[in-house]
Amino acid sequence: LLGYIGIDTIIEQMRKKTMKTGFDFNIMVVGHSGLGKSTLVNTLFKSQVSRRSAGWARDEKIPKTVEIKAVSHVIEEGGVKMKLTVVDTPGFGDQINNDNCWEPISKYINEQYEKFLKEEVNITRKKRIPDTRVHCCLYFISPTGHSLRQLDTEFMKRLSHSVNIIPVIAKADTLTIEERQEFKQRVRKELEMSGIEFYPQKEFDDDMEDKSDNDKIREAMPFAVVGSDKEYQVNGKRVLGRKTAWGIVEGESNALHERVSLSHLQDLKEVTHNIHYETYRAKRLNENGG
Ligand code: GDP
Ligand code: MG
Repeated sequence: LLGYIGIDTIIEQMRKKTMKTGFDFNIMVVGHSGLGKSTLVNTLFKSQVSRRSAGWARDEKIPKTVEIKAVSHVIEEGGVKMKLTVVDTPGFGDQINNDNCWEPISKYINEQYEKFLKEEVNITRKKRIPDTRVHCCLYFISPTGHSLRQLDTEFMKRLSHSVNIIPVIAKADTLTIEERQEFKQRVRKELEMSGIEFYPQKEFDDDMEDKSDNDKIREAMPFAVVGSDKEYQVNGKRVLGRKTAWGIVEGESNALHERVSLSHLQDLKEVTHNIHYETYRAKRLNENGG
């Protein structure tokens, strides 16, 4: 029946269009300095971009990040071209006064909304507005095994009103599996107690099936990540990983990849547009109208 009314043709056309125009996705990494943000950005790209491509020296030391910087690569995933942009940010928390350390990040996020808004209200509107809005923010939590720092809670609380947050446990290879599970549970409880909303927010539970899918993600939150720029041989396969007392730990950016699929990325984009951007737009138009 679906074939008869041509829905499959429409879906096929949409798929072809995505393959042609591509899929843009923008991630931002945020957190204290030294937690491996820049390393993870490299891991994400290294496992995707052909290793032969120029630009990655063997033992390149990652310099301290001093400014907000976006790097883009076109990667291919199941026949779908995707332009992945990762926005690296300088770490915070090492200043004497950390009072307003979320400001530059908040400012960057809003500037991208502003750019989009300007294009949208433009009379000679482009057919396809370039989208630099941050679709998701990976928030790096220090693998202390204890609890969240006050700065973390405060930062996430502020950010969660303007961007999708995915909390991750940084340098997860420094914790044993048991420690990891315990820490995850504790962090989940603390996030809940502080009223911090993170992806997937309740709004995503449209039906029972969605809810059960989302609950699986929620149970795994915060994702544990391991960044690495060294390759190791594991079961005859070359993987990016870290050597630890308990063997080679594979970069869990892979796992992050498995759990967050293309449809989740689409969700994140929609929430960015329909909720976060809409909030910004309404506020701005109110300012102008009033
Ligand atoms: P950033 O300040 O958050 O950008 O941190 P960097 O990416 O510059 O990394 C800081 C240090 O931590 C470097 O020496 C990295 O090699 C190391 N590092 C990065 N990721 C990991 C990880 O997943 N596990 C461990 N054990 N060390 C890491
Ligand atoms: Mg850095």
